[in-house]
Amino acid sequence: MSKQTFILFLFLIYCSSSSSFAQQYSTYFTDNACRVDFHFCGNATQTAVFLDKVKRESFWGGRRAHLSSDLNLGDFRFRVLDSISGNQLYIDGFCALYHEWQTTAEAKITNKSFEQTIQFPFPKKGVTLIIEKRLDLDHWQQLFSYKLSPTDKLIQYIKPKAVPVKIITKTASPDKAIDIAVIAEGYSVNEKQKFYKDAKRLAENLLSYEPFTKYKKRINIYAIAAISEQSGISMPQDDDWKNTAVGSHFFTFYEPRYLTTTNIFKLHDLAALVPYDAIYVLANTKTYGGGGIFNNYALTAADNKLSTQVTVHEFGHSFAGLADEYFYDKDVLDNTYDIKKEPWEPNITSLVQFDRKWNAQLPAGTQIPTSIADSTKIGVFEGGGYLKKGMYRPYFDCRMRTNKAPAFCPVCQQAIEKMILFLTEK
Ligand SMILES: [Zn+2]
Repeated sequence: MSKQTFILFLFLIYCSSSSSFAQQYSTYFTDNACRVDFHFCGNATQTAVFLDKVKRESFWGGRRAHLSSDLNLGDFRFRVLDSISGNQLYIDGFCALYHEWQTTAEAKITNKSFEQTIQFPFPKKGVTLIIEKRLDLDHWQQLFSYKLSPTDKLIQYIKPKAVPVKIITKTASPDKAIDIAVIAEGYSVNEKQKFYKDAKRLAENLLSYEPFTKYKKRINIYAIAAISEQSGISMPQDDDWKNTAVGSHFFTFYEPRYLTTTNIFKLHDLAALVPYDAIYVLANTKTYGGGGIFNNYALTAADNKLSTQVTVHEFGHSFAGLADEYFYDKDVLDNTYDIKKEPWEPNITSLVQFDRKWNAQLPAGTQIPTSIADSTKIGVFEGGGYLKKGMYRPYFDCRMRTNKAPAFCPVCQQAIEKMILFLTEK
């Protein structure tokens, strides 16, 4: 084969493989999003899924390649199957506040329901949606199955409420970018400009951290200026409740610093104004706190002096499924991780299946567990995922462990990079 023929050959392979991705997407899906709203219902030991509604939304901001495979992250996952052939057309993992609630004392004595939303590209033909709960690294339990017909007249297609949207940064088309919808929470009608300034600061903070800096030309950030009736954020511990755009509050599960919202449907109604891969709720408060739930949302205080660090930490959870690398001297949180199983999060290990984690990256001769003296190298440091014993982290300090750490550790950076490439490359 001559050199020219060989180049032509490579070019043809490239064309056929890239068009097959495009074909796979357009064979099965439209440019709209299919949003499924449901409720997780149950208690500490039982989980059921109840459908609320199906919606067609204008923009699909998610990935257009690797549709039928995922990165095996999350406590739950959903799969979209061709209802005739049974072929898997789309899969995605996610976490839920409901799952965290199941570890609380309240869940032992109360049944409760939590809103949850998932999204996938809007199908052209009938599909079966399966929702599953993770049992371990490779096994799942089916919770829900639903036959979805794209021609069903009761699929809602409602124009979202008009809310001003400002582009903070846009460098790539949504099908090749990570699109982040930043939603205003606790900003009154007179605080729109403050929100735009705060959203810009959030974007700058995020993009100043590796590997987001390296890939900033693939990240679009939109500011959605939802108006709250009252300024500030609800603080139940001080008997201070406010009427805000998505009703977030501190004191989630009675933890003073844990800031979340359970109004997931409202949140997605606002995000629907733009194409989005990720949602960031920016809370107009100086009080320290935040929360981040994988493939769901991140939420953080805009004006605390540690907001830069917290903003980036919470996005580590919500975007890449990273675990907290910190722990308490006494194991105060029960039921968080079962150390007899390998956790799914990329940055902690119980050593049960360490080959599936960063084992291959350990420098030769690394002690397990690693002593503190080796704190500038990747190692296996005991303490992580809230547990002092039996759970290990890859680096002495990391953005996922303390607010003092200057950066994400190399293992966390790699996990974030993997997600960026998964969502933006063919
Ligand atoms: Zn880390």
